[in-house]
Formats: sequence, C-alpha cells, structure tokens
Amino acid sequence: MGGFSAHTHKLENIFIQLILQRYYKVVKMSQIDKKEKKGLIVIGGGITGLTSAVTWARFHDTKKDPVLIIEKEPKTGGFVTSYTREGYLFDTSQIIPNCNDMFELLGIKIDLKRFKGYYTRIFLVNPETEEVTKIELPSGVEVFKKKLMKEYPENAKEIEKFLDHSRAMFLELFKLKTEPSFIELLKTIVSCPKIVKHGSKTFKNYFDQFGITNPEVVEIFDAFAAFSGLPGDRAAALMTLGAMNSVLDNAYRPTKGFIELTKQFEKRYKELGGELLLKTKVEKILVENGEVKGVQLEGGEKIYSDFVITTIDPKVAMKEMVGLDKIRELDEKFAEKVEQAKMSPSSLNVALGLDDEIDLASLGMDCGYNVVTTGGESFSRLFDEYEKGNMAFTEKQFHMGVICPSLTTGGKPNITIRVVPVGLGDWMELRENNLEEYNRKKEEVSNFFIDLVEKYLIPDLKKHILIKDISTPATYARYSGSPTASIYGMAPFSDNFGRTRLKMRTPIKGLFQPLFSHGIFGCMLGALQVNDMILERKILGGNARLKPDK
Ligand SMILES: Cc1cc2nc3c(=O)[nH]c(=O)nc-3n(C[C@H](O)[C@H](O)[C@H](O)COP(=O)(O)OP(=O)(O)OC[C@H]3O[C@@H](n4cnc5c(N)ncnc54)[C@H](O)[C@@H]3O)c2cc1C
Repeated sequence: MGGFSAHTHKLENIFIQLILQRYYKVVKMSQIDKKEKKGLIVIGGGITGLTSAVTWARFHDTKKDPVLIIEKEPKTGGFVTSYTREGYLFDTSQIIPNCNDMFELLGIKIDLKRFKGYYTRIFLVNPETEEVTKIELPSGVEVFKKKLMKEYPENAKEIEKFLDHSRAMFLELFKLKTEPSFIELLKTIVSCPKIVKHGSKTFKNYFDQFGITNPEVVEIFDAFAAFSGLPGDRAAALMTLGAMNSVLDNAYRPTKGFIELTKQFEKRYKELGGELLLKTKVEKILVENGEVKGVQLEGGEKIYSDFVITTIDPKVAMKEMVGLDKIRELDEKFAEKVEQAKMSPSSLNVALGLDDEIDLASLGMDCGYNVVTTGGESFSRLFDEYEKGNMAFTEKQFHMGVICPSLTTGGKPNITIRVVPVGLGDWMELRENNLEEYNRKKEEVSNFFIDLVEKYLIPDLKKHILIKDISTPATYARYSGSPTASIYGMAPFSDNFGRTRLKMRTPIKGLFQPLFSHGIFGCMLGALQVNDMILERKILGGNARLKPDK
C-alpha cells in the first residue's frame, strides 16, 4: 500500500512538472524571457533572418541554446511578403530560383508552382519603329540551349560553347569553400580553374570572349544580369551565371503567394522552439573587448548573447549599431570595406487590381516574369543616370518587369510593374514633408509605365484598372531601414562580390552579417554559411554550396 502511495506521489509530481513545463512553454512563447541569455540573437526577421534562425534551431537544442529573432515590424518576411488591398492579393517578390535543397535541409514545406513552360519572356521594343520582338525563355538548361541554337543558327556554336562553359563554371561553385584555409585555396586552383580565371570579371568581359554577335542573344543574357539590378558591364560574371543557372534549373512561385513562404518559415521556427520578438527595434549591438555581448533595444533594454547575426543593411549595422571606430581598432581593412561597400539600387512597383473582364492567361501572362525593354545599351544608360541621382526613363529608353501573380495564387486578377534601377532621390523627403507632391509624383511616374505596358504588352490595360497601389523607394527604405532603399542587399559589382565582398565574419568575435547579394537564394545561402561558420563547418562542411558533390 505504502509502495503504491509513494508511486502515486511520484506520478503526481511528474504530472505536475509536465503541466508546469507546458505552462512555462506557453508563457515563454507569448512572453519572451529577455533576462535569459540567448544562444543566438538575429536582428531582422526577413528571409535572411528567418533562415539564419531556423538553421540555428535546426542544429541546436533550443531549450539549452535559445534563439531569438528581433523584428521591428509587426510581422516577419521583410521584402518577401504579400499584402491585400480591397480584396486583391499582391506579392512583393516574383520568382524563387531552385532553393529546394535548402528547404529540405531546414524542413520547410512549401507548395510551389514550377514554371514549366516559359519562366521569362523578353519583349524587345525597337524605339524607332515601335516594333516588338517577343523572346521566350524556357526552363531547363538543355531545353534552353537547344532552343537558342535552333533559333539563332549563325551563333549556334558560340551559344553552345558559352552555355557549356558557364554551366561548368557554375558547378565549380559547389567546390568552393566559404572561408578557405591556405591549403584549400591552393586546391581551388585545380578544382575551380574557371572561377579562378574568370571569377573576378564582369559579366560582359566574360561573355564577350565567346563571340556571340546576334543582338537578341546578347539581350537574353543581359537580362540575367539585370535580374541582379546591374547592367552586364558591371555585374560580376559569377553572380549572373549563378542567377542564370539556378533559374534555368527551375523557377517557382508559391501557390498561395509569397507570404506563404514566410509563414512556413515561421511555423517551422516555432516548431523547433525558436523565439520571436515583433514590433521591437534593435538600436545597438553590444560589444566588449572585441566580443559581441548582445543587443540593446530601442528604449534601452538589453538582451545578451555570445552570438549575434545582423541581417539589416550592413552599413547601418556596422556604422550605427556597432560604431566604425570599434571595428577600425580591430580590423582597419574591414572598416574600410564597410565604407566602400556599394548597395544595390531601389525600385518602383506599381501593383494594379484589374476587373474580371481582362483575360491575362490568353496574353501568356502565366509565366514567371516579362521583361519589356528597349534593349541595347538602355539598362546600362539608365544605370549610369541612376548613379548620378537621375531617373532617365523615356519613351525611347526603358526597362521594366511585368508580373502576374494572380494566375498562380488565384483570386482577383492583378499585375505588378517593376522598375529598376531607381534611386532614393527625393522620394523620402517628399513623403515626409509634402505628401501632396509625393502622391502627384507617384501618379505621374506610375502612369508613364502603365502607358508603356498598355502599348507594348497588354492592350487596353487602362480600362481594366480598378485599383492601383504604388511602392516607391520611400516605401522600401521605411520597411527595410536601408538609407539607400536598396532592394537586393549589396550590389554584385565585380569588386563588391565573391572574395572582394564585405566578409560575413566581422572582426567582432561572435558577430556575423550574412548579407550576400540579391534575392531569396542568396539570402538563404548566406544564412546557412554563417551558421556553418558558427558551428565550425558542421552544416556545409565549409563549402560555399549545400551539395558539394553535385
Ligand atoms: C519589390 C521587390 C521584388 C523582389 N523580387 C524578388 C524576386 O522575385 N526573387 C528574389 O529572389 N528576390 C526578390 N527580391 C529581393 C529579395 O526580396 C530580397 O533580397 C530579400 O527579401 C532580402 O531579405 P533580407 O532578410 O536580407 O532583408 P529584408 O527583407 O530587408 O529584411 C530585413 C528585416 O530587418 C528588419 N529590421 C530593419 N532594421 C531593424 C532593426 N533596427 N531592428 C529590428 N529589425 C529591423 C526589417 O523590418 C526587415 O523585416 C525583391 C525585392 C523587392 C523589394
């Protein structure tokens, strides 16, 4: 009897403990324990922050080494999201290249639509005659190669040579180490000869050696450089080839909109025990004796950790949150690189809600991305002017993307017009000090692009428009906190990319900044790489890419 009673007592205790643990967990989920020292703090809950934190949670016991994301907005996702206006669901992003290996590693389940036919179409406008040439780019490296060789027989050999060479160079990326030792660096000379020889070139320098002369073919490959916000004569060859090959491998869009990607990340993160602090701004990164100690929130509260990953604009993080002097004391070159790092351009996005009469499918809008451009040197000239602070789009010189998310997500028909490169200019100043003028300028600029889309891509577009939602560089600056309103992180100029980029491991022990360059793929990869550094190569084996034996 006594034995039985002692046994019940023990069971009761276990039961009470379980309830307490459960209760404690509930309390912990809704009320982050800010006094507790965290294993990792991640600043920013965009796709880089989410991937950084999920990776940590996936490879640690979060009860012992808790991970906390601190995000200033009321939701995660940053630039990767969807939003509704008057019943229309608009996406901010358009295409995800092949990230499936990374999703699998992290256990992210997301329903994606694969663009099986054409993932991109280019509408090349002759500014003089106003004639339009439509070029359709199919998915799959071999399909793409065969199509181009067939359509441009005079350049078939050169196209084959270029695509084979660039594919081989792309695959060498799988053999690169993120932080190579001296021996590994030597091995790279043998294992990655193409990268060693061509890796520091601009895309144009690299491309020109293959002797492709047909202007349409040149246009096609330049479009891949433009995806990173830079013209081919400035974008790093490796960046363009990476973007080109990963979208050729497959391009996708989430069937429920880009917000679903964020939701699935957040769901997985919580499953793994990750903690999330929303509507909270980080003001300072705490550093003592060259080591990171945690962060200070707006309002003064401090949260401690030996590891911090910052995913916000690296210039802001290093200059304003750490202080460049502290960095300079430890590593002068790194401090200099912070000053010199060039950020990518901004964008203007015009989201249009359309009536049910419009038939977007019959216009072939069910592809990933439509580029409408005057081609030739247009993008390069627009970029030159952007760098001088001007927006030089005219009826004879333009370049823009037109995307139709609703043919994937369902719901009311809509399209988005994306314009890059755009600088911050006076957008922010007007928004803050002269809202009337800001709205007038938004209207004027968006009408200019709508007219062009109506003229060259979607006839009678204007009569179908029911609502219009315009995002300017001021919108992007506000949401991301980037003073230059940059939308692709660091610009992949050949001297701002690869080995010449701002390093992910900062001179402050325990402080990392994974910002890579351009897009969801780069953001996810950078986040994996910094976790690999923290875990001393236990995730990627020190490799730059996930599947080194591919
Ligand atoms: C209009 C547009 C279209 C795009 N289209 C594509 C596309 O089709 N395909 C693609 O691959 N990429 C696309 N991109 C690029 C891609 O969206 C970005 O490269 C990527 O989302 C950047 O993610 P991030 O987490 O690095 O930064 P962000 O998304 O900027 O996230 C940073 C987060 O940090 C938070 N934050 C900032 N300061 C603080 C602070 N002090 N304290 C706490 N939190 C802070 C911000 O609120 C934000 O949530 C597009 C970008 C834009 C803007």
